[in-house]
Amino acid sequence: MNKIIVAIDGYSSCGKSTMAKQLAARAGYTYIDTGAMYRAVALYCLRNGLMTADKIDIDGLKQHIADIKIEFRTNAEGKTETWLNGENVESQIRTLEVGTGASRVSELKFVREFLVAQQKAMGKQKGIVMDGRDIGTVVFPEAELKIFVTARPEVRAKRRYDELRAKGETLSFDEVLASTIERDNRDQNRAESPLKQAPDALVLDNSTMTPAEQNEWLEKTFVGKASKC
Ligand code: C5P
Repeated sequence: MNKIIVAIDGYSSCGKSTMAKQLAARAGYTYIDTGAMYRAVALYCLRNGLMTADKIDIDGLKQHIADIKIEFRTNAEGKTETWLNGENVESQIRTLEVGTGASRVSELKFVREFLVAQQKAMGKQKGIVMDGRDIGTVVFPEAELKIFVTARPEVRAKRRYDELRAKGETLSFDEVLASTIERDNRDQNRAESPLKQAPDALVLDNSTMTPAEQNEWLEKTFVGKASKC
């Protein structure tokens, strides 16, 4: 079977990364979480005074963007973790604050160009599963398999709420729901590479599916596609 590119796009907290990781592990492919790259840029901005609650220092970020070095490294348990300028930031990038910051920096054209160039390079050899918002539309419009994942906002907010609470963040469900809806709006309505379904993407609404059911669906779909390539 020839190696292919699998592009998984969709709304925040719809379980894209869990299914993408699982598929990559079973297929022997590399998994790339592009959301983690936008989150790493946001963390860099927050730490370096380039982003406050209502403003991004665009000129400052432009000046420093080339200093932002993002890597994915595999830990002792085989899990991929995000590193920013030589530091493991995997847990620091998973907060609600950094997620919102990622959604804000992702509106900037020069940030997208900086990250998309790296994402394209990562997929040159094929054999990757990449998830994000613009993978099937901008990063790899030529991907052999494109999936667009969606679920009801309340279902996604509940998943995010449970995850954040398990990590010790003290937030109400309403705050998480509001942030989910705000992020959906920004992702769908921004001028640069808005979240949208590629015309040739397969849609998966997993509102009422268990993780096992969606993994099974994805694996079947992948095998069906890869065996013809
Ligand atoms: O997927 P995740 O929630 O980690 O992504 C964080 C934010 O990064 C998203 O809300 C979205 O605004 C942005 N993003 C993007 N393009 C991608 C991946 C993520 O704009 N390919």
